[in-house]
Amino acid sequence: MTACAAYVEREEDRLTELDSPIGDADHGGNLRRGFAAVTEALAAEQPATPGEVLTGAGRRLVSKVGGASGPLYGTLLRRTGKALGDTPQVSREELAEALATAVDAVAQLGGARQGDATMLDALYPAVEGLRTSYAAAAEAAEGGAAATEPLQARKGRASYLGERSIGHRDPGAASSALLFAALAEVAG
Ligand code: ADP
Ligand code: MG
Repeated sequence: MTACAAYVEREEDRLTELDSPIGDADHGGNLRRGFAAVTEALAAEQPATPGEVLTGAGRRLVSKVGGASGPLYGTLLRRTGKALGDTPQVSREELAEALATAVDAVAQLGGARQGDATMLDALYPAVEGLRTSYAAAAEAAEGGAAATEPLQARKGRASYLGERSIGHRDPGAASSALLFAALAEVAG
């Protein structure tokens, strides 16, 4: 979570720039605010298990991020944490399993599917890649984010643009790739 917060802070402007032509130019700020709150909470609370870290972080994101990405990433982290339960040490395979459940919950919450040009286009490949390695997860997420460029957005603000959303990388897919890059750096 600390690495995620650092990556988001470093890439805030790029995420906001991606959210400018097809959104409302707040994605970088939304995530920076959310992850800053996560870092603050973790410093104060020191949760006992990885599952607790993630459920607490998810709750923070929901309460601090106003945009669509708050509840979506909040659900991702909370559901991953819940699936991990009180396991004291989490293997890569266990994390992949837990994330798979959580990504399905994100899809259900947002009513989106793979190919709709959302964060799911990075998250689904990331989870598949994670079954192999942390590096493979990060690479697959980046590939998934790049693959949103030729797609027309079907969900979220970008979908209001119809065909004019084609040719732009989805900001949420880009931030998902960033979070998996952070994970690969610290865990890989
Ligand atoms: P907002 O769109 O409310 O301004 P953000 O800019 O923070 O929120 O986040 C936008 C990102 O959220 C999009 O790029 C997309 O990846 C993701 N998103 C939006 N709506 C959905 C949805 N229904 N399902 C999945 N992801 C979504
Ligand atoms: Mg936005």
